[in-house]
Amino acid sequence: MPGEYGDGFDARIEYLPEVRRFVIYYRESGPGRPQGRVHFSIAHELGHFYIPDHRARLLKGEMHNSLSDFRSDDAQEQEADEFAANLLMPKELFINEVRQFRQRVCTLKEICQMADQRFGTSITSTARRYCQCDIEACSIVVSENGLIRWAMHSEDMKRMNMRYVPARQPVPAMSKTAVLWQTIDEASEPVEGLVDAEVWFERPFYKKRLWEEAMVLGNTGLVLTYLTLDADD
Ligand SMILES: [Zn+2]
Repeated sequence: MPGEYGDGFDARIEYLPEVRRFVIYYRESGPGRPQGRVHFSIAHELGHFYIPDHRARLLKGEMHNSLSDFRSDDAQEQEADEFAANLLMPKELFINEVRQFRQRVCTLKEICQMADQRFGTSITSTARRYCQCDIEACSIVVSENGLIRWAMHSEDMKRMNMRYVPARQPVPAMSKTAVLWQTIDEASEPVEGLVDAEVWFERPFYKKRLWEEAMVLGNTGLVLTYLTLDADD
């Protein structure tokens, strides 16, 4: 059941006992809500349908308005997000697609292009997948109101002791992301530049600079930061 619904609404699945059918309500794409986010959102609802525990709750009449795309702290929501990422971007196929798209490592802009043109998924989920597949050393950080929500790091990054960015803390003052948060609105352009690894990490083994890119994620009120090693260093 696509529709415009309210601003805060993403999607919901619900069981209608009278007709013994499940129905998924979802907000259509539009400004600040790209098609990829809609795909991801529907895949998230399918997670609630296919994961046995979740379906059992639906059959009992439980329902919730989903907060998908790795924005919720709720365990059930996170399981449905993982399901959606696996459904839309199976690891092997994902790695093959990236190889065909780029012979070298990707910029955040290229990850956005892949999300939009190749996978038809959200930027956050595509960047997470890229990071999980260890294609290169990189970290993904999501912040809200200038505070860190969560971060994830590729295995190569962890090996260089760049493995931890504390949640609920302000983004580092010397980071490009902090600059973006100072002047933020939905139309803010992405920022990028070199920063010392120590700006983001305590005692990294990597003594050079990181390439930092940060962008506003549509109308979510979130900023996505992408950190990679400086290729020229
Ligand atoms: Zn949900």
